[in-house]
Amino acid sequence: MITAHTRLVGLMGWPVSHSRSPAMHNAAFAAAGLDWAYATFPVKPGGVGAAVAGIRALGMAGANVTVPHKQAVIEHLDQLTEAAQRIGAVNTISVTDDGALLGDNTDAPGFVADLREHAVEPREHRALVLGAGGAARAVVVGLAMAGCAEITVLNRTPERARAMVEALATPGVVLRAGGMDALAERAGQSTLVINSTSVGMHPHEDAMPCSPEVVLQPSQVVYDLVYAPRDTRLLRYARTHGARAIGGLGMLLHQGALAFERWTGVTPDVQVMRDALTSS
Ligand code: NAP
Repeated sequence: MITAHTRLVGLMGWPVSHSRSPAMHNAAFAAAGLDWAYATFPVKPGGVGAAVAGIRALGMAGANVTVPHKQAVIEHLDQLTEAAQRIGAVNTISVTDDGALLGDNTDAPGFVADLREHAVEPREHRALVLGAGGAARAVVVGLAMAGCAEITVLNRTPERARAMVEALATPGVVLRAGGMDALAERAGQSTLVINSTSVGMHPHEDAMPCSPEVVLQPSQVVYDLVYAPRDTRLLRYARTHGARAIGGLGMLLHQGALAFERWTGVTPDVQVMRDALTSS
């Protein structure tokens, strides 16, 4: 029930009509007894500056930001957290006590939280990250911050992987970059393989980011950031090799739980959020 006191947050992106975040956040607000509501705002490319002005003008309590605005939103905000600065992308905006708009990135800690929920400790792994877009940057920063000491990034466009690795250079972390032609070889040397490309995402569910000559091992963990569909072709392929396969829904859940905390100061009931996500 929306009241005259309801605090409003929401998702700005294009498109947003497919989003499961309203179900997840509104269930958690209700469970916490908070008079808050989460809506979706279709914001066209180029429109994010006006949308951020709307947060200020309407007195909204914050927002999530998604494709294609995660980078473009930065210049319209007042402050950035260290994670958002390093990643160069914002997925969560909150309002500080003095009314400033603070940009954060909860994808990176959300990814690490989900790995740990599956008892996968980044510092014990040699990671192979596929992709060099915004999600891949969050994954690499999350892994490095969590103590992973060896990360290889491969991308269809190798120059993007190289530029990303250069920008994210971190003391104590060996970062390599290359093209997908190195995949079979690098996969054999990695213990944690992460798909952060959009390959395999609905409606292209038959696609897979690696070719069948890539042999996976039962000792390996394969994490696919894609969460629609929940069981991707890559995850099925990993299982046929005996590898452990983890889908991206948990990352979506944990980035959302962290955003909820940033906005409200309250720790949400993660199980309520999970149930809402899996039934939406
Ligand atoms: P993005 O910035 O558009 O990057 C897309 C990446 O995929 C690029 O590296 C791109 O390579 C690669 N790619 C696209 N089509 C490809 C193809 N046909 N073959 C090989 N590589 C291809 O997207 P993003 O924001 O990083 O998101 C990537 C995926 O992560 C999406 O599926 C998104 O839904 C998912 N994601 C999940 C979560 C979660 O919570 N689970 C959070 C964030 C994102 P090029 O550089 O060569 O174009």
